[in-house]
Amino acid sequence: MIESAANTVSASMGEVPQPGAVIAIDGPAGSGKSTAARQVAIALGLRYLDTGAMYRALTWWLQEQRVDLVDTQAVLARIGEPRIEVGTDPRQPGITVDGRDVAGPIRTRHVSNSVSTVAAIPQVRAELIAMQRDIIAAAAATGAGIVAEGRDIGTVVAPGAAVKVFLTASDEVRARRRSAELGDDPAATVAAVQREQTRRDQRDAAQLVAAPDAVEIDTSALSLDEVVSMVVATVRARMAVPRG
Ligand code: C5P
Repeated sequence: MIESAANTVSASMGEVPQPGAVIAIDGPAGSGKSTAARQVAIALGLRYLDTGAMYRALTWWLQEQRVDLVDTQAVLARIGEPRIEVGTDPRQPGITVDGRDVAGPIRTRHVSNSVSTVAAIPQVRAELIAMQRDIIAAAAATGAGIVAEGRDIGTVVAPGAAVKVFLTASDEVRARRRSAELGDDPAATVAAVQREQTRRDQRDAAQLVAAPDAVEIDTSALSLDEVVSMVVATVRARMAVPRG
């Protein structure tokens, strides 16, 4: 029902992506990817999937359980336990673990600085990628279509995505954006965030590869609105179906 409502919104815009379209948006932290992806989904009347939130939710839960994250066997012994549910409404995606709303707790630096250790474990990736594919397939099957964002959407999770976008930004701009997001944390200076970002980039490097058919956009000098406009224009140019 929600899905058909989404289609009605996009149909009224004159041009819509093909039914069930999958739009992949990948890029590093601070590239503007999460906010832009949500806005693009809203603009095009599509569902939205934040895959990073799923890795964060699992990491948050493991930390709550006091699991030693560098002990891969200890992590693997527990990964089937938490029930992670992620919403796909771009206006209010929502993420819960065992029914508890964790949208706030998963964004702390404590989680940000550990998540890539958990995400580097192949079995963790296999488990979460299977969930992500199910969510994407469900949206595609109803004809709603979905914008999925992360690191490996265009290469691994949904290599058949109709449109792939890879967002980048300079290291300094990314650190500035992350620092601003963490505004109420006095320790989150641009310099501190940039150091943490470099470490996370190194651990994420294996996942963070642009698909050969991705459109790359450097967002360093762009506002959020400009990024959203460029991505929406890219989607329309690549696959819009003119309405008679
Ligand atoms: O996008 P976000 O910064 O919330 O992602 C958090 C972390 O989750 C990344 O640093 C990365 O380690 C992991 N991740 C991943 N694959 C994805 C999305 C996120 O490995 N598709």
